[in-house]
Amino acid sequence: MKIFTTVAETVAYAKEQKEAGKTIGLCPTMGALHEGHMTLMRAARKACDIVIASVFVNPVQFGPNEDYDKYPRQFDADCEKLKAEGVDAVFHPSPEEMYPAGYGTYITVENGITDILCGARRPGHFRGVATVVTKLMNITRADKAFFGQKDAQQVAVVRRFVADLNLPVEVCMVPICREESGLARSSRNSYMSAEEKQAAVVLSRSLRKAKAAYEAGERSAEALKAVTRAELEGEPMAKVDYVDLYTYPALQAADTVTEPCLLAIAVYIGKTRLIDNVILG
Ligand code: AMP
Repeated sequence: MKIFTTVAETVAYAKEQKEAGKTIGLCPTMGALHEGHMTLMRAARKACDIVIASVFVNPVQFGPNEDYDKYPRQFDADCEKLKAEGVDAVFHPSPEEMYPAGYGTYITVENGITDILCGARRPGHFRGVATVVTKLMNITRADKAFFGQKDAQQVAVVRRFVADLNLPVEVCMVPICREESGLARSSRNSYMSAEEKQAAVVLSRSLRKAKAAYEAGERSAEALKAVTRAELEGEPMAKVDYVDLYTYPALQAADTVTEPCLLAIAVYIGKTRLIDNVILG
């Protein structure tokens, strides 16, 4: 497995692969890799000749009071996991390599879909995501890029700017990978104590209750949100940030679920902010 830290060597590698007629799959990550990330690598491995993973904790997508400094970094262990999945190359740049002195270009999606859900709570987050993903797609000359449904709003935002900017990349969404308890796998789960992890199971449980209500015929957005919220509020360690429902992937407001809708939640368990979601319909 090749390990690249510079843009130049990654561009040269991608060019060589394209000239040899290979298709390239990109899996962007921030590292601290877990089984959820591996499901992305496997999907890319199946669909593309060459798999390039990126491991980069992108400073531009973190707010000033967020966890950029304490975000887990374990590059050697990440490389072992990527190698075991048959990943061809890892791009692991420094912040200065991605944003050198004089850097001045950012991508913003301005149709409202970054002003809701996590975008409303994390100003500038999706500007950082859109900017880094655009750069990664260009650097790796990706034919397909793989993202997890865990970050469903991110997938919708990426699909939007890829379409708007006519980027020649197919955006592929991989289902949420969960622990046996139902907890969605996340690098941030490592912030939690055993007791908090136990309490965090309430996120997936609340979404399962809402899904059951949907399957029993409930179509009112308010009612489905209320079912979710009631379950979350039954867990003393949980503090709800949001429970919301939008059409998916357009992310438009919906009173009734008459087309696929995203029921998305963000919840603090102690100091750890967790997200989860389910697509209904
Ligand atoms: P991150 O390293 O948290 O930025 O995540 C990198 C990619 O892995 C994103 O596309 C995430 O949506 C995806 N991902 C993270 N956790 C999971 C999970 N539990 N299931 C599926 N995909 C995931």
